Amino acid sequence: AVEIRGVHKLYGALHVLHEVDLTVAPAQVVCLIGPSGSGKSTLLRCINNLEKIQAGTILVDGQLVGYRRSGPDLVETTHRETCRARQHIGMVFQRFNLFHHLTVLQNLIEAPTHVQRVPKGEAIERARTMLARVGLADKQANYPAQLSGGQQQRVAIARALCMRPKLMLFDEPTSALDPELVGEVLDVLRDLADQAMTMLVVTHEIGFARQVADRVVFMDQGRIVEQGTPAQVLDDPRHERTRRFLERVG
Ligand code: ATP
Ligand code: MG
Repeated sequence: AVEIRGVHKLYGALHVLHEVDLTVAPAQVVCLIGPSGSGKSTLLRCINNLEKIQAGTILVDGQLVGYRRSGPDLVETTHRETCRARQHIGMVFQRFNLFHHLTVLQNLIEAPTHVQRVPKGEAIERARTMLARVGLADKQANYPAQLSGGQQQRVAIARALCMRPKLMLFDEPTSALDPELVGEVLDVLRDLADQAMTMLVVTHEIGFARQVADRVVFMDQGRIVEQGTPAQVLDDPRHERTRRFLERVG
């Protein structure tokens, strides 16, 4: 689960997140939508502690992100603590950040063997299971450059799953893909949702959000403007800003 309370994020004088409150319950899928520059990626990066927040708290599975309680105070976590916490959060970006000099299988066993110290045989077994899950069992010996964009993105998802994350964060996982490849990646997300993975997905795929999301959250200018069921937010938005955004993307 993710619990975000009163979060503010500033880049210098630029205030990009204002008083953000957001909860993702276990096994829930929350889709985050909003215009360019509204702070969606920044919010995901804060959850993963790739960015420090200036106020508020973020809890992932009850654990504070980026800070540790010390009596009444909060102190920043050490690099070591940060790395440990991040192991349980899988993140998939718009651009498939695969290691290009490694095969698909090597990509998948890299973090489990080096970060989690999983024995190699076990890591290979996990990798094969995850590749089968994303429909790429036959591609383990290929290099990323030998795969289509959709296949590379499915490898990126499988690689994140090999760390056995409790939470998956997706930042526009299909927006760099050719239209005909979007479906195969969304199918993998849909399958993960069916398997009760907790997911926060930044997406412009309104159809996907309508079908799969338990909740849809609309952000604009660093604030959550409204959130609710897909039917509430997508079909009957209360705010003018949401309506205008949906007219543009839908
Ligand atoms: P998009 O839909 O284009 O991906 P977004 O909603 O993900 O947009 P963010 O990338 O979170 O938006 O950016 C929010 C604001 O923060 C923008 O004004 C952006 O210019 C600014 N910003 C993002 N990263 C940094 C950074 N590292 N340093 C300074 N400003 C940043
Ligand atoms: Mg973004």
